[in-house]
Amino acid sequence: MDIKQAKSNVIEAGRELVKNGLIQRTWGNVSCRIDENRFAITPSGRDYLSLTEDDIVIVSIADLSYDGDIKPSSEKGIHAKCYELRRDVNFVIHTHQTYASLAGLSGLDINGLDGEAEKTIGLDIPVASYGLPGTKKLRNGVVAALRRSSSKAVLMLHHGALCLGTDRADAFAVAETLEDVCRRRLIERYRQFTGKIADSFESLTSYIANSIITEAAEDDLGVYNSVREFGIAELTDVKTGKKTPIDIESGAPLDPSEICPDTAMLHAAVYKSRKDVNAVIHSKEDATLKTSRMGITVKPFLDDFAQIVGITLRTAEYDPHNAAKTAKKVVKRLGCRDAVLIKHNGGLCVGANEDEAKAVELVTEKGCKAFTAASLYGAKPMNAVESLLMRVVYKTKYAKKNESNR
Ligand code: 13P
Ligand code: ZN
Repeated sequence: MDIKQAKSNVIEAGRELVKNGLIQRTWGNVSCRIDENRFAITPSGRDYLSLTEDDIVIVSIADLSYDGDIKPSSEKGIHAKCYELRRDVNFVIHTHQTYASLAGLSGLDINGLDGEAEKTIGLDIPVASYGLPGTKKLRNGVVAALRRSSSKAVLMLHHGALCLGTDRADAFAVAETLEDVCRRRLIERYRQFTGKIADSFESLTSYIANSIITEAAEDDLGVYNSVREFGIAELTDVKTGKKTPIDIESGAPLDPSEICPDTAMLHAAVYKSRKDVNAVIHSKEDATLKTSRMGITVKPFLDDFAQIVGITLRTAEYDPHNAAKTAKKVVKRLGCRDAVLIKHNGGLCVGANEDEAKAVELVTEKGCKAFTAASLYGAKPMNAVESLLMRVVYKTKYAKKNESNR
């Protein structure tokens, strides 16, 4: 394939992956084989929607060398191994897709695929042993998985998935079939565990939540998202769209005749304590809400959770009748993390802008689902030191690449 064609295939695939929700933000990576010696790959840490042909890097399969100043994906070594070990593979996608990431937590290869799934992926799906992102250890785990199976999909423990195709469309078919197989395997695990048939993943989350919840209570807080502009936070009622600007210092509406949203003090407290935060999303996603009822601290089971949410997701109680004091407690539990659960009321997800807060919301939800999956498999959370290391690298280096790797 000529270079121009390979580059444009990579760009198109990146867009499609974002659209299909198989990749969030700058995670994952995509490559296309040019010939037996080279492949074209996405740059490291860049937003898929802004990529042009100049951003796509040509890398050597043999020694990973590349021309130019743009840094190729940190997982280029894995892509190179796919092309080296599988001569018929011409397109490789590394995703952070939800159900594949969750099913990987079993740590066990998935066997016995049949029908369309077998035709698209193969007889089995191996799980690669854990290694930190971008490391030789991770690459070696993937190589071992590729060697012990002829599958076109590999699950990466605590991380995501790898989908191999003869071409772009084939790699996408693998990614989508993989998600479906993994979702069904999780539901099957629940059946083995409980003897009950679930029709969706939500039933699994309810089962785990109900086995932990000690006190029944309803979510009772109003749901507002907010953005900061200088000393003012503009709260938007998620249900009605009504906007209420509040003074961050006092937590009161600018217009004293307005009714004060019950979480106004909470939003104000976040902005007061975190100068880096300009947007807050109050998330009521299914797993996030159910996990908030458990009153627990969720540890990271997936790399992107450790990176973008933080080394733990803690729970705190907020009482609008004792707003100032309880808001302080919530903020303390948030600390330097990017999300916190509010008992019975979902989570607060924060970011430098609305896009970042949205990404935190997605990863928080996936991380809460991961807690459910890990409970069903008896899987342990990731090593705390490695989680901390990833969080620091993400905050200080990776997230900034989007600006510098151009
Ligand atoms: P890159 O942005 O360097 O491709 O890394 C993303 C990723 O998913 C690492 O595993
Ligand atoms: Zn990854």
